[in-house]
Amino acid sequence: MMKIDVSTGIIQGANFHFSPNFDERPRDQEIDLLVVHNISLPPGEFGGKYVHALFSNQLHPDEHEYFKEIAHLKVSSHLFIRRNGELWQFVPLTKRAWHAGTSAFEGKENCNHFSIGIELEGTDDIPYTPQQYEQLAQVTRLLMQYYPITIDRIVGHSDIAPERKTDPGPSFDWQHYKELVNELLMA
Ligand SMILES: [Zn+2]
Repeated sequence: MMKIDVSTGIIQGANFHFSPNFDERPRDQEIDLLVVHNISLPPGEFGGKYVHALFSNQLHPDEHEYFKEIAHLKVSSHLFIRRNGELWQFVPLTKRAWHAGTSAFEGKENCNHFSIGIELEGTDDIPYTPQQYEQLAQVTRLLMQYYPITIDRIVGHSDIAPERKTDPGPSFDWQHYKELVNELLMA
């Protein structure tokens, strides 16, 4: 059973690989939005070490053509769910991870200030795995127990940055995901 240490923002039961890419949230900022993303490095290849490398600024531009475009980026997300459902934490929930970029939700800009970012290992067009939906639903319920995140405050990156971003993409089954969360909430 996972738990959150609210003072440190650490999820007990996750795997950890801490990223240097974070800073402080604004003072007294409530954490009340969950942003779902996808990432895979190289795109469409799963199970490698490169997402961990990107989030710790250790991606080598020479290892793949695509890495040249992104190796310089300073990015992170709080959480990452692999294809097998494994949960990784890169940034304490209390801190501001750098996942959303220029963004707005209901007129409020800079979603990084007030959101938790969760990356699914995947692409916009390859179906996510049942293990990922299960883990995502479990983590979502956990986050909802500790933070004022409601079911209508769970969005995709494409919802808060529609000009720039398409993830988690058409391959993400929002209805299935929200049904799983609702089932857990009612259990
Ligand atoms: Zn994204």
